[in-house]
Amino acid sequence: MSICNQEHRHWPFLGSLPHDQGGFGRHKCAGCAYELGYQAGQRRDEQIYIDLDSLPESQAGTVRHKSPHAAFAQGYYDGVHSSYNGI
Ligand SMILES: [Zn+2]
Repeated sequence: MSICNQEHRHWPFLGSLPHDQGGFGRHKCAGCAYELGYQAGQRRDEQIYIDLDSLPESQAGTVRHKSPHAAFAQGYYDGVHSSYNGI
């Protein structure tokens, strides 16, 4: 299993995501989930699929033990917003 070393592990706003208390997503990188959701949001995908298996794990940073489901949803929302603002 790959380990995420990307900078998004330390993005402060991801620290406010709910904790995953022991579900399947607990060790998955919420930062990667956020970016996946963001891309889907920018495309305004109408079929949403969170491929948790494809996400690397995260052992450190603000995303540790954060819910990848919540991260994906937040990313999707932000991505849709940016698609309207043209940012
Ligand atoms: Zn990551």
